[in-house]
Amino acid sequence: MAHISFSEAKNWNFCPFYHKLMNLDKVKGFQGNAFTAFGNAIHDTCEKMMTEGLEQKGPFFQLKFKEILENLPEDANKDPKLVNSMQNQGPLILDEVLPAMEEHFGEYEVLAAEEDLMEMIEDFPCKEKNKFKGFIDLVIKTSDGKTHIIDWKTCSWGWDARRKSDPMMTYQLTFYKHYWAKKHNVDPKTIETHFALLKRTAKSDRVEIFRVTSGKIKTQNALKFLEKAIYNIERRNFIKNRLACRRCEFHKTEYCT
Ligand code: SF4
Repeated sequence: MAHISFSEAKNWNFCPFYHKLMNLDKVKGFQGNAFTAFGNAIHDTCEKMMTEGLEQKGPFFQLKFKEILENLPEDANKDPKLVNSMQNQGPLILDEVLPAMEEHFGEYEVLAAEEDLMEMIEDFPCKEKNKFKGFIDLVIKTSDGKTHIIDWKTCSWGWDARRKSDPMMTYQLTFYKHYWAKKHNVDPKTIETHFALLKRTAKSDRVEIFRVTSGKIKTQNALKFLEKAIYNIERRNFIKNRLACRRCEFHKTEYCT
């Protein structure tokens, strides 16, 4: 293992054996559906809007969505009624992105979109030299000199309070903040992180931006979690978490009976 991403660590946390199947054996599990196609098309359109000032966001989204849907496996869920409603919902969300950004951040400058992270993990000892890998959706700078890391999340109506504070959801931003600060050699105190919820079925306020804080203790906890994941992956301790089987696509398949 030369690098680990947040989603790999999350897979390990879900079930170490699932992580082995997905990330080491590269068994093709879930390969997408209309929901992931919608999310990817919205992400791509947001990136263009932020970096190139794309104005024709509706047509761009429709093209991307169609293209991604066409590349899905034959048996993926592409229910025509659902796809049709998504074709209407996408532009409504996209119309609210820039106003929501302005309302939340005021004046800002885009520093990067889809920024790659590949930072050496030096926070704890590992058997191998590992790197943390990530893709940051958006990095902006506001007039008060602060840097903001933003991750777009498409969802249906939104997230409840439990989900908004769930460590396994928010550690993603904790890692991004920690390793982005290392990459650019800046004080983490000058960085804030946010999720931007892009709500498909909401009737109003389709874009909700909320801040996730990651202080010293939370960062330490996130790094302890990463250390535990790497320690076990390096030693090939792939125990089966039977409590997760109900939610796993490999359950009762040739890969995991
Ligand atoms: S079926 Fe259960 S044990 Fe097997 S990979 Fe999935 S979650 Fe892990």
